[in-house]
Amino acid sequence: MTSLRRINQDDLRNHNLSVVLDSLLRATDQLSRADLAKETGLTKATMSVLVSLLMDNGVLEEGVPAGQSLYGRPSIPLLIRGGQLCGIGLQVNTDGYGIAVLDINGTTVDEQWVDADMTNANADEVFRNLDELAKSQEASLDRMGYTLVGSGLALPGLVTDDLRLLGARNLGWEQLDLKTFDVVRRLNPKVDNEANAAALAQIPGYATQRRGIGLVEPTDSFIYLSTDVGIGGAVVRDGHVVRGDHGFGGELGHVSVDMRGPICRCGRRGCLEVYAGRRSMVSAAGIASSDAAATRESINELIDHWRQRDSKAVAVVEKALEAMASVIASIINVCDIDTVMLGGLWAHFEPDLIRRIGRMVRPQALSYPEVQARVMMADVVARPALIGAAEVGLRNFVDNPLEFLERE
Ligand SMILES: [Zn+2]
Repeated sequence: MTSLRRINQDDLRNHNLSVVLDSLLRATDQLSRADLAKETGLTKATMSVLVSLLMDNGVLEEGVPAGQSLYGRPSIPLLIRGGQLCGIGLQVNTDGYGIAVLDINGTTVDEQWVDADMTNANADEVFRNLDELAKSQEASLDRMGYTLVGSGLALPGLVTDDLRLLGARNLGWEQLDLKTFDVVRRLNPKVDNEANAAALAQIPGYATQRRGIGLVEPTDSFIYLSTDVGIGGAVVRDGHVVRGDHGFGGELGHVSVDMRGPICRCGRRGCLEVYAGRRSMVSAAGIASSDAAATRESINELIDHWRQRDSKAVAVVEKALEAMASVIASIINVCDIDTVMLGGLWAHFEPDLIRRIGRMVRPQALSYPEVQARVMMADVVARPALIGAAEVGLRNFVDNPLEFLERE
């Protein structure tokens, strides 16, 4: 009986600590113990114990008192202490691979990216290089006194819970058992599709201290759509990525807009990706074909042609916008979500293009004009999947703080 009681108390304390951390990370203003008690519904006595535990472990520190209240003591803000806890993010993408380390206070401790042409890249070699990057990173984190609380790995394809990559066609990889790679066995990262990881990076305070007011609130719903060689997407509902029953949800790039359209690499016809994916747009504009169409140079050329009002490039971009607007409106009609964030390629065109997609989308939504959908550039646009993967690692601490804390 004693052991059962103990487990329950620990579970409760772990849960309460997690709620306290969540509140602190998501807050836009500094919170005191009293603010936290009010926000979480926990008693001031309980809050005092929880905060002491977090302070004793160096997770929190007291800030400068925010002024004397009329009665009682001044309000002391609690701050997430930097230099203590971090998460590692790993990513393999179509343009290379890399690693990022995030402090729970929101600081990027380090980021390293290896630019490489990943078409038919050798997976053993890529993961061996990632392992080397991670090992030297871990050694330097150790010297800095950091505790690594978890890691995430973002891949451009479908990933199962038991760490298999079913396919990443833009890399030419299929049926990879990720557990065969040393870096995966050693770090045991949570593996996710790159679009899901990139969407997580857009949620303020998901696993790092929120910085200012963002585009959405931590518990908002939004659609994330990112254009790269392929098109990745994620539906975020109430601050959670909707993964579906098997973890494969949110493949918005493979929503078809034309049953008689060109065949997509997925086998279907007229998918969004064949009109608005980077590779397809470059080919359709006659700039490059097959693997050469996936390179940075060729997309930059397309953007240049478009800026010079080259008729072919303009037509390709127009078609892509139409396809994007059609798919976005369909998703809005299915999910009843009014906020859409675009990532990837579209940041390199004029901001007006994004506004145009918004203007095209709104009247196509059944709920219009009752609901006025907003379409905008994502908040985090520089390697969001890599940042998201590091946040996935940090979330390991936020969900199970007791596992990392020493008591008494
Ligand atoms: Zn497709």
